[in-house]
Amino acid sequence: MVLIQDNKEFDIQFPIIIIGAGACGLCAALSANEHGIKPLILERDKEPSGSSALSTCLIPAAGTKLQKKAGIEDTPEIFSSDIINKARNENDQNMVRFIAKESAPTVDWLIDNNVPLDLVTGFFYPGHSQYRMHGSPNRTGTELMDALIKKISQKKIDLMTSALVSNIYFNSDKIITGVEITRPNGNRENVGCKSLILACNGFGGNSEMVKKYIPEMANALYFGHTGNRGDAIKWGIEIGASISDIGSYQGHGAVTHPHGTLLFWGLMTQGGFQVNIKGKRFSNEVRGYSEQAVDVISQENSYVWEIWDSNGHELGMDFVDYRNGSDLKAHKTAKDINEISFLTKIPLKSLEKTFEYINHCIKHKTKDNFGRDWSNIKKMTKPFYFAKVTGALFHTQGGLDINSLAQVLDKNGKPFPNLFAGGGAARGLSGPSRWGYLSGNGLLTAVVLGKVAGRSAAKKIINNDY
Ligand SMILES: Cc1cc2nc3c(=O)[nH]c(=O)nc-3n(C[C@H](O)[C@H](O)[C@H](O)COP(=O)(O)OP(=O)(O)OC[C@H]3O[C@@H](n4cnc5c(N)ncnc54)[C@H](O)[C@@H]3O)c2cc1C
Repeated sequence: MVLIQDNKEFDIQFPIIIIGAGACGLCAALSANEHGIKPLILERDKEPSGSSALSTCLIPAAGTKLQKKAGIEDTPEIFSSDIINKARNENDQNMVRFIAKESAPTVDWLIDNNVPLDLVTGFFYPGHSQYRMHGSPNRTGTELMDALIKKISQKKIDLMTSALVSNIYFNSDKIITGVEITRPNGNRENVGCKSLILACNGFGGNSEMVKKYIPEMANALYFGHTGNRGDAIKWGIEIGASISDIGSYQGHGAVTHPHGTLLFWGLMTQGGFQVNIKGKRFSNEVRGYSEQAVDVISQENSYVWEIWDSNGHELGMDFVDYRNGSDLKAHKTAKDINEISFLTKIPLKSLEKTFEYINHCIKHKTKDNFGRDWSNIKKMTKPFYFAKVTGALFHTQGGLDINSLAQVLDKNGKPFPNLFAGGGAARGLSGPSRWGYLSGNGLLTAVVLGKVAGRSAAKKIINNDY
């Protein structure tokens, strides 16, 4: 809740409070510290993890030092146009351009802060026209989080865990004055601040809000951090903040069932495909994994089979999630189509027909009936791999409108002077729906806007600009 009180007194005061210790909150803290102000980070969990730790840690950026070293010519303009095209021109294009411009300095800055990132090459994620994904060695968000937390501790920045922010204090001049923290034993503490950064992600972990704003995913598996209950958005609604694209989200069409491991989408862009229990394909899989989630859960029994080949398997071994899926036997192998049919109970004739059609498209370098282009795909190499998969909600993309200082805006476009937001708390770059999400834009907005929010909040304090 937002508690409106003038002249509220606090026992203790911090210059900047950051709510949430995911990638956004930790980047905000490092950035504020770098600009001369030590913040306090408040995290509801005992150990910080957030969706950031669950992620595959792939962060796109255009014009980084790693790209230059690899001879890849990429620019914020090319990146912006990829983001805008994916969202069919329906996203906030000024924000897209701003974030694309900040992407390379931010990834270079992460590397300077000892976050281990390398350039991911070998396959493209849907919608990206250049090799620009930067990933940690095992492609897992725990590596990102471990590196950021280590830096926070080296810089002696206060990180208070088991500290759920239950209410925020606001006065009649639209200034945030502090927050109320609730401890696991129910004890409450009030802490004052000069600026507040909302880095507590969206509402994927709040089933009521998902039902209200994203009804198509109300019954889907939620694969993100359950502690993300939409607090930033709820507070924003109460203070009259502008909120956009509330129905937008990142879905994923390939979570193994029932093992719950993730299949990376490079399997698709390298020639993998999905069939329903009747052995029929049902969509153009390479449009993107986000929009595929709904297509998958609307098939009979809400699951489908993903099939890929030994080349995809080789690529997958770079990803810890993929290796986990292999270890758990979520992925099976088959020497031929007969064996896939036998093990999956998909009717053989129908499966053979699907393979024949794909081979035809590959041979003739054509598009298929769903518009998928097979011209650059090689014929599948045996053994085949397959897994039962379902669709899931990963994170929400709608959120608080902000300006290029990451200040939260009211409904007239006027900034709240000392309230900032980033990551999943802010409006994403995907436009209004599931199909606009371009791979990597979740962490991109977390790290870029975290860095921007920390810098802006610190500068405001140093310049006494209130
Ligand atoms: C399986 C999976 C894979 C993904 N892979 C990628 C990828 O490779 N690339 C990519 O770009 N994106 C990916 N994403 C999306 C990405 O993880 C998120 O967009 C990103 O982590 C958001 O960062 P954040 O800091 O905003 O939120 P989070 O990392 O979720 O951090 C928010 C923190 O706020 C805390 N919090 C919430 N409410 C409160 C409160 N009231 N008080 C105190 N603390 C609170 C939470 O406990 C949490 O720790 C993936 C998501 C999932 C689920």
